[in-house]
Amino acid sequence: MIDCHVHIGQWSDRYYDYPQIFDTVLASQKVKIDGLVFSSTSSCILGVKYSEIEAEIGAIYSANDGKTEYSSDVVKPLLWYVPEYRKQGVSVETAMKSLPYCGIKIHPRAHDWDLNDSEKTDILHEIFDFASQNNVPLLIHSGYDEFEEAKKFEMFFKEYQDVKVILAHCRPIEQTVEMLFRYQNVYADSSFVDKKSLNILKENGFSGKNGKLFFGTDFPITHWYATEMFGRKINFEKEYEKDCASAEYCLEESWFF
Ligand SMILES: [Zn+2]
Repeated sequence: MIDCHVHIGQWSDRYYDYPQIFDTVLASQKVKIDGLVFSSTSSCILGVKYSEIEAEIGAIYSANDGKTEYSSDVVKPLLWYVPEYRKQGVSVETAMKSLPYCGIKIHPRAHDWDLNDSEKTDILHEIFDFASQNNVPLLIHSGYDEFEEAKKFEMFFKEYQDVKVILAHCRPIEQTVEMLFRYQNVYADSSFVDKKSLNILKENGFSGKNGKLFFGTDFPITHWYATEMFGRKINFEKEYEKDCASAEYCLEESWFF
């Protein structure tokens, strides 16, 4: 099984260093994890420079600080593209060539992807064009608010029917189901998806072997919510075990491997 939604990096006041995160996921007992796809939540730091993210992720593949070195065949990064990178002179193509990226992530809650702003839609076209020409999947955060809902980028799903899109978190579930039915190129991931929504996906035929649901956890953000937000005492291993509950609904293969 592949976990297509893992994070490292700065999240709120915590820093999730990669060795512990990767080791927890790859040593999982509940579900055998053959590989993972991750992005850095440091991308949410206000005013972050691409060069900082490049250095942070680059260190994983050239461990010269005494840490374990990981193979990009097993732990694969996503380019979390931030609109401000364009002002830093870093195009999607430049960034994609800088590290062994296997896909692109965009996050309309963390970053303002205002579709009425022509500069933003211009960058979105740059992202979808790159994905189309290079057969690279896109992971898109979805949420309950209008600026992040599952159908927000529908005009792009329609225009770029050869671009593989994954709707992270399936929110709202009704819209996600609508997108899954309407576009053959749109799939979803199971990260933070509750049991009720998983069952709705199942009833609509999107779960299991012939489904459109990839396995993802959002670990260790799940652990952050459990401990920092809800004050529970749970270690990484136990949290990841819980996060694996959605795996039975998911495809075993992945677009990323
Ligand atoms: Zn996430």
